Amino acid sequence: MSYDVVIVGGGPAGLSAALALGRACKRVLLCDAGPRRNAAAEHLHNFVTRDGTPPGEFRAMGREQLAAYPNVEVRDARIEAITGARGAFEVSLPTGTVQARRILLCTGMIDEVLEIEGFRQLWGHAIFQCPYCHGWEVRDRRWAYLARGAQFLHFPLQLPGWAREVIVLTGGAFEVPAPMRAQFDAMGIRIETRPVARLVANGTRLERIEFSEGEPLGCDVLFAHPPQRHVDVVRALDVRLDENGFVRVDPMTRETSIPGIYAGGDLQTGLQGAIFAAASAVHAAAMLNHELTVERALETVTDHPGSRNCRGDSPV
Ligand SMILES: Cc1cc2nc3c(=O)[nH]c(=O)nc-3n(C[C@H](O)[C@H](O)[C@H](O)COP(=O)(O)OP(=O)(O)OC[C@H]3O[C@@H](n4cnc5c(N)ncnc54)[C@H](O)[C@@H]3O)c2cc1C
Repeated sequence: MSYDVVIVGGGPAGLSAALALGRACKRVLLCDAGPRRNAAAEHLHNFVTRDGTPPGEFRAMGREQLAAYPNVEVRDARIEAITGARGAFEVSLPTGTVQARRILLCTGMIDEVLEIEGFRQLWGHAIFQCPYCHGWEVRDRRWAYLARGAQFLHFPLQLPGWAREVIVLTGGAFEVPAPMRAQFDAMGIRIETRPVARLVANGTRLERIEFSEGEPLGCDVLFAHPPQRHVDVVRALDVRLDENGFVRVDPMTRETSIPGIYAGGDLQTGLQGAIFAAASAVHAAAMLNHELTVERALETVTDHPGSRNCRGDSPV
């Protein structure tokens, strides 16, 4: 089987790109398998018209809408490897190999859940990564932010907009620079330097944070940014990354360092949210469509010099 574009990953990014390319008459295969990033979350927020939708329902609606486009195929399949080059990629699936002119990576990122007692149980329920996604539901409560380094200290500055109190947990692992300390003081943000020993939960609710010594901290909500890694198929491609470990893309074309391979969604930015992921993937899809349409038209002219047919359909 041969496709114009194989999309790897069927989250908000992959689904949105498939819709755009489907509506642009391109022949698309979208493959999705494995955990989605927001698997632990009960509802998806901050996506206009879908605020409060369960993530599984969001995906099901996306697939339902894609079903209207016969040129878009969706498979629950894990892409194991991508070889070949621009115009002639070979994509390995458990059931065999397919060909693609272009690849669009929408594989998201994998959060490496922290090895702190209670963290896994509370992730997505009382521990969040984004206040726009989940802050409203837990506003006016006691919030803490688990900072992994001084480079993350700008993040908690926005939290007093939602919370009754904000405490930054440094674990004593790094110094808070004096200007930032002054800003925290001015905004009423406290700093706690004792290392966190455990998070005490009551079901999926956070009750308190215990430290290696001294009094525990009563707390309702924890924000954290665990380290992230790429999925195996992206790592195997050896695509160029930026200084923060995200896939580097051309800001205009969304092409990665490998010609013919594009990227959209969480894997190419720290600005992670479903609507950002969808937007960047649709951007990539539009660039892909433009390029493929020109390519197809020029091929048609070369094959049949009298012809001006530049339809985007590709033979299966
Ligand atoms: C706990 C939590 C709660 C969140 N809540 C919100 C929220 O309320 N609102 C919001 O806007 N954002 C939220 N986010 C962020 C949001 O989930 C992401 O920004 C968004 O899912 C990114 O979309 P994506 O399509 O790039 O990646 P993903 O949604 O992670 O989708 C990537 C898909 O690719 C698949 N995949 C990976 N490798 C392969 C392969 N080799 N073959 C086939 N498929 C593959 C994965 O299994 C996955 O299904 C939350 C994140 C977390 C961690």
